[in-house]
Amino acid sequence: MTANEVSDGSATREVRRRLEDERRKRAAQLVALEEEIERAPLEEVEAADYARLENLRQSLAEIDGALRRVDDGTYGGCEGCGQPIPAGRLEILPYARFCVRCQGRASR
Ligand SMILES: [Zn+2]
Repeated sequence: MTANEVSDGSATREVRRRLEDERRKRAAQLVALEEEIERAPLEEVEAADYARLENLRQSLAEIDGALRRVDDGTYGGCEGCGQPIPAGRLEILPYARFCVRCQGRASR
């Protein structure tokens, strides 16, 4: 256990719980969607379904990344500028990798 985990162990636990919760939800949605696509006749599967599938896989990968950052103690820092991501933003998007400013820059 690192010093970091000792100093804010309960906050870390809370974040991990939220991320794992989120991960379970997305994983269940992904399984349901995959089954739906599998059952539907091919011509009835829409591009939107594949886009949702891709979105869910992307979210799961981001959540996994966030869980890794929780483990190595770098969670909550912006990957762009290194500043802490505001708690309010993490509240809405617990697996955010960038602060709002860097996110805006990254998506341009
Ligand atoms: Zn930043």
